[in-house]
Amino acid sequence: MGRQAVTSTRIKQLRDAQGWSAYELGCKLGCTRSYIKSLEGGSLPITHRFTLRFVALERQTYAQAARHKQICTRHPLPRQITILARPRKCCVCKAWFIFPNTHDRVCTDRQCRRTYHARTQEAR
Ligand SMILES: [Zn+2]
Repeated sequence: MGRQAVTSTRIKQLRDAQGWSAYELGCKLGCTRSYIKSLEGGSLPITHRFTLRFVALERQTYAQAARHKQICTRHPLPRQITILARPRKCCVCKAWFIFPNTHDRVCTDRQCRRTYHARTQEAR
């Protein structure tokens, strides 16, 4: 987050994740509902000014959200950590993980591995 360009998808993503209406997001950013809708729909370009405000709000929102999460770790953690990889769901147990390999679709649990393996065998 932050370095990549702000896109209409990213605006919608933040809004959906927080359950904010376009009006609510507009209030937080000092603009109108219809302006938000136009940016999301691509009928207006995303300005530099908007980008700065949006990135600040996004950062603050995700930092706040991180404070209330329960994190299980198999490794010692420092006092502060920034997670750069996107968490994904194990396709068997549906729990969230940051997988060691980007292409993993299943967690390291033995039962999940077995189920996943059986599924991919069936598919052939
Ligand atoms: Zn699993």
